[in-house]
Amino acid sequence: AGSRYRVLNGVKGYAPLLQDWENFYTRRLYHRIQDCWNRPIKGPPFSATMEVIDRRPVPRTYQLEPTEKSGKFLNLGSYNYLGFADDWVESCRGAVMKAVDQFSVSSCSSAVDIGLTSLQTELEANVAGFLGKEAAIVYSMGYGTNAASIPALMGPGTLILSDALNHASIVNGARHSGATIRVFRHNNPAHLEQLLREAIVAGQPLTRRPWRKVLVVVEGVYSMEGEIADLKPLVRVAKRYKAYVMLDEAHSIGALGKTGRGACEHCGVDTADVDVMMGTFTKSYGAMGGYIAGSKELIDYLRQNSSGSVYGTAMSPVVVAQVLRAFEIIEGRDGTDTGARKLQAIKDNANYFRSRLEDMGCELLGQKDSPVVPLMLYNPGKIAAFSRECYKRGLAVVVVGFPATSLIESRTRFCISAGHTREDLDLALERIEEVVDLLRLRYRKRWMG
Ligand code: PMP
Repeated sequence: AGSRYRVLNGVKGYAPLLQDWENFYTRRLYHRIQDCWNRPIKGPPFSATMEVIDRRPVPRTYQLEPTEKSGKFLNLGSYNYLGFADDWVESCRGAVMKAVDQFSVSSCSSAVDIGLTSLQTELEANVAGFLGKEAAIVYSMGYGTNAASIPALMGPGTLILSDALNHASIVNGARHSGATIRVFRHNNPAHLEQLLREAIVAGQPLTRRPWRKVLVVVEGVYSMEGEIADLKPLVRVAKRYKAYVMLDEAHSIGALGKTGRGACEHCGVDTADVDVMMGTFTKSYGAMGGYIAGSKELIDYLRQNSSGSVYGTAMSPVVVAQVLRAFEIIEGRDGTDTGARKLQAIKDNANYFRSRLEDMGCELLGQKDSPVVPLMLYNPGKIAAFSRECYKRGLAVVVVGFPATSLIESRTRFCISAGHTREDLDLALERIEEVVDLLRLRYRKRWMG
C-alpha cells in the first residue's frame, strides 16, 4: 500500500527492494500458491516407494511439520526418475559411505586449485565414455553448469539461437555471455532454419560471416512440457548452417533411450553431431551437479576458463560416489539387471500413467516415453485448488503457473519414476480423477463432445 517510493534512511524517492509491480505481484502470488507443497521434510532421502512430499524423496516413515494435514504422501513431483531415492540403501549406500569415510564431505576448493578428487576424474571419464565423447567436465551444480559455461564459450559478436522454452539456466547463461540472442519457436526446425538463414546467409558480408560463431541450444526433454526435442531435424538444420549445437539433457539423461543415453539415443542422432552435451545428476542419478561432454579441446578450455570450474567449489566426493554408483547400475556393470529394469520401468510407468489420464479426457502435454506428464489446468485460479485437493488426498504434486508458463496455461506437472509401483500409480489416478471431476478438468471430453 502507499507510494511505490518511500523515504528510507532519510532519502526521499528511494525505490523499494522489490523492483516493480510485476515482480511484486508474481512473487506474492507464488508464495500463496507454494503453501500447498513447500513444506519441510524430516528424514533421509530414501524409501521403498516414493511416498513423499515437497518434490524431494523421503521415506515412508517421515513426519511432516504438523499442519492442517500431515503424514504420508505419494510423491508425483520429484525428479527421481530411475528411483535411486527408493532403493538407495540397497543400491548406493555402500559406495557412498565408502566415499564419506575416505574423502569426508566437501572438496573445499575449486577443481583447478586443489579440489579435484580421484573420484571426480573417474566420473568425468565415465560421463565421456557413456556419451561417446572425448572428454567431460563435471560441476557442483546443474544450474551453474549452464549459467557458467555458456558465457565461457560465447560472447559479444557471437549468436545464440535458443529454443523459446529453454530453461532459466540457459537463458541466464546466454544473457550473461553478452552474445546476441535470437529465440526460435519451441521445437520448430523450420523457424530455426529461417533465423539461421536470416542471420547467416542473408546478412552475410562478402568477405566474412557476420557472427564469429553460432550456437543452437535445445533441451532433450522440456521440463514444463514433457516434450522430447525433435532432435534429428534440429541438428540437421544447425549443421547445414555450420552452427554448433548444445543439448541440455537434464531431464533425458538416464531417463530416455533404451540404455538411458538420453535424447540422442531416443531420436537416433549421433552424439558426434552435438558439440556441447550438457546434463545434470539431480534427476535420474538421485544426486547433485552437472556435466558437459565434448571434444577434449572444448573440455580443456572449459576447465581453465569457465567460472564454475575456476571459482566454484568442486563436486562433493560423496555426491560423485553416488553418481558413479548410479552409472555402474545403469550400465549394468554391477553384474545385475537392475539398471535395465529401472529403464524399462520408467518407460512403462510413464506411458501407463499418461494413457490413463488421456482416457479420463484430460488435456496433457508431451509425448509417449517422456517421464514428465503435464496436465493442463489453464485457469490460474485452479492452480492452488488442484494442489490443495491433491494434498488433502495424500498426493504431493507440483503446480506451475505464471511466470513459468503464460498466465492462461497453468498446469500441474507429474514426474513419473521407476520407483512407482503399479499400485502407487493406480491409487494416484483414482484420487486424481476425483480432483479432475471437482475442478472440471476433462477438457478433451468437453471440447470433443
Ligand atoms: N537444465 C534444465 C533443463 C533443468 O530443468 C534444470 C533444473 N530442473 C537445470 C538445468 C538445472 O539443474 P539443477 O537443478 O541440477 O541445478
